[in-house]
Amino acid sequence: MGINQAADDARPVDGFDLQDVLFIGVIVFACSIFGIYTAPPGVLAAFWPANAVLVGLMLRPRHPPTPLHWLVAAGAYMLADLYMQHGWPKSAMLTATNLMGVSVCYFLLSRMNPEYQSLRHPRSMLRFVLVVVSGAAAAGAVGIFIHPVLFGGSPSHGFAFWFSTELVNYIAILPVMLTMPDVRRWLTEHKRRADWSSWRVEQLAPLAAFAASLWLGTQLGGPGVIPYPIPAMLWCALTYSLFATAGITLFFSLWTLLAISSGTLVIGANFDSQQAIMSLRVGVTLTALAPLTVASVMVARDELLARLKYAASHDVLTQVLNRGGFLTCAEALLATPQLHRRPVAVMMMDIDFFKKVNDSYGHAAGDVVLTNFARVAEAGLRSGDLLGRLGGEEFAVLLPGCGAEDARLIAQRICDAFARHAVAVGDSQSLNSTVSIGVCCLPGSGTPIETMLSSADTALYKAKHSGRNRVEL
Ligand code: GH3
Ligand code: MG
Ligand code: MG
Repeated sequence: MGINQAADDARPVDGFDLQDVLFIGVIVFACSIFGIYTAPPGVLAAFWPANAVLVGLMLRPRHPPTPLHWLVAAGAYMLADLYMQHGWPKSAMLTATNLMGVSVCYFLLSRMNPEYQSLRHPRSMLRFVLVVVSGAAAAGAVGIFIHPVLFGGSPSHGFAFWFSTELVNYIAILPVMLTMPDVRRWLTEHKRRADWSSWRVEQLAPLAAFAASLWLGTQLGGPGVIPYPIPAMLWCALTYSLFATAGITLFFSLWTLLAISSGTLVIGANFDSQQAIMSLRVGVTLTALAPLTVASVMVARDELLARLKYAASHDVLTQVLNRGGFLTCAEALLATPQLHRRPVAVMMMDIDFFKKVNDSYGHAAGDVVLTNFARVAEAGLRSGDLLGRLGGEEFAVLLPGCGAEDARLIAQRICDAFARHAVAVGDSQSLNSTVSIGVCCLPGSGTPIETMLSSADTALYKAKHSGRNRVEL
């Protein structure tokens, strides 16, 4: 994806977006109804995805929340509670508790830089824990007042109950929301890259190990089985994306709590008090923080490596491949089996009288001409062609699967386009430069790239001696 399109995708949608406001309302309502229906009888919903989902939705860069978004979200919470016949006072109190936690989490996360917010920084999980503890504490603070009214418990129990419930839900669900890829972008990128061809069965091994360790826990039982899947989850974190790891840790928390409550996982402890249930829920979810931290560190490391690799293989001025990058990519391309029996062409391109450009207009103008040439050359090439700056004002191109006539046509197209393309230098001055191109074409890809470049260089020498601004084969 081009930088421009990525920037387009991140840009907020202009104007008022009624569709998005309604979307928020529907999602909050649906998540609340889901939470209410899946709650064990008598206790307030244990799995309550609405709040974490709402925080995630409010943080989407393309849809910054307006007051109406908040109003509709509050309305959706109310509606869900009223629908469940909780009555007005109870519905209002529950909605206030939900919104308290959500707004604190949103406020703190929206002030973080995007790297921390999407958990792509090695230390982002530390901040994440601070955020969710603050959000849960805010909900707990409201719980101090509403718990005695709604359930007749003590204020301190109200705090502990709301704090632990919110904490567990935020830790389990919020990472999934924060790391979720933009669906539209993900679909277009995957369609274009056809990533699935490089997919291998072995990649399922960490997931299989995770499933096996969950199963082993149910077979062995005992108080120590809860963290059994940790090694497999760490393996998943080292193998899969951050989003997938967040999904796996969410599954771990849900599975463990459900399996214990249904008797599938027997850990031999008594859960007859609220305190014991809260302790178990918090303990299980905190376990999932370790794999998430590893996945965060891995993402940061991978991004750093990618930036380093790019910097090492690209030319700073023109952003095309540098000499090393070009030679490495060209060798790899020539070694692909698909290219063995197909023709391949190489072009050497050298800007004419470039020293004169520098001498007459200055080095900065020379740099503009170089950058301009790189853009003109790129525009004249096909999508699979390789362009590199070998040094100074010399560029090379590898054209896989390209016969002599096509190569000459492409070279002539670049030559003509560059001669026509004027660049602005200084005040109201424009400058036209030309390029000479030598082309070497071979019927198969067995010849080393250096040999092909040296043949193309001989042709380039001929082009220079025949008057420049021309193509020689
Ligand atoms: P010819 O037509 O025979 O190719 O002549 P030329 O002047 O283009 O060739 P020559 O090799 O004599 O000059 C190349 C010049 O490119 C010399 C050097 O100062 C300049 N050059 C090399 N790298 C850069 C750069 O990054 N920026 C600028 N502005 N100039 C550069
Ligand atoms: Mg030169
Ligand atoms: Mg030159």
